[in-house]
Amino acid sequence: MTQKRFEALNWASSFLSKHDRDANIGEILLCHRLGITRTKLLVDIREPLTEEDEKWFKNCVIHHVKTGEPVQYMTGTESFFGHTFHVSPAVLIPRPETEELIEWVKKWASRYFPHKKELSVCDIGTGSGAIAITLALEKPEWHVSTVDLSADAIKVAKDNAKNLHASVDFYEGSFLQPLIDHDIKVDILVSNPPYISKEGMRSLQDVVKDHEPHLALSGGEDGLDAYRCILKEVRQIMKDQLLIGFEIGYDQGEAIQNLIKQTFDEQIEALEVMKDINGNDRVALAFIK
Ligand code: GLN
Repeated sequence: MTQKRFEALNWASSFLSKHDRDANIGEILLCHRLGITRTKLLVDIREPLTEEDEKWFKNCVIHHVKTGEPVQYMTGTESFFGHTFHVSPAVLIPRPETEELIEWVKKWASRYFPHKKELSVCDIGTGSGAIAITLALEKPEWHVSTVDLSADAIKVAKDNAKNLHASVDFYEGSFLQPLIDHDIKVDILVSNPPYISKEGMRSLQDVVKDHEPHLALSGGEDGLDAYRCILKEVRQIMKDQLLIGFEIGYDQGEAIQNLIKQTFDEQIEALEVMKDINGNDRVALAFIK
């Protein structure tokens, strides 16, 4: 006799908790395997599993406990801003905090470009394409381009753009270099670059440290290297005005504001750091005139 869904889930959550893993992972795996939503899973919770499904499920839970491999790499998907993105170990798994960056950029774009509809936007370090693709879908009249150093990440992001029917131009290269090479100028620059400090990298959980790309996480000694590289060249890619939206680390608010002040000085019309749902500094916004 095979187990019913709820029996398998009960086993998974206590096994996961006992090993200090997220107890909800069982639900995610089972929904993925059965191709159903969480609501459907819970409504039909007394349905028996097939032998193959039960075996697959238990193996996956045990594998996650043993290796710490993120469940999103096991299922190959993560949801971001209501869209399903494919993810692989070549890309950072999109985080819910990054959805807040999208909201802020939209808000500030309508505040500072009230009469301009067709804005050019570039996202630096695209990974799965979550930011660029979401902006392209939210604002179809914007022209969205994106850059990544990793050819493997660009492959994943291009695939996501195609599946989600988003129009995005992709460039492989380092920070702003491809934009400079192609003489592209933008109204809006967004980025969730690698921003974890050397110290922070040491204390990351194994689920992140042993599996997600360090290229997308590690921002040098103080975590700010990527912002310095971007800001050093930013004048070469800006139109007359520029809106900047950066995702930042919880302790980087003041440092980022200083870097932006050093770059633009009295050209800054607005500069603010926003907190995320957990009350941590997470997004830096600047409007340069
Ligand atoms: N928010 C990610 C984390 O805490 C870091 C993302 C980044 O470095 N851009 O794991």
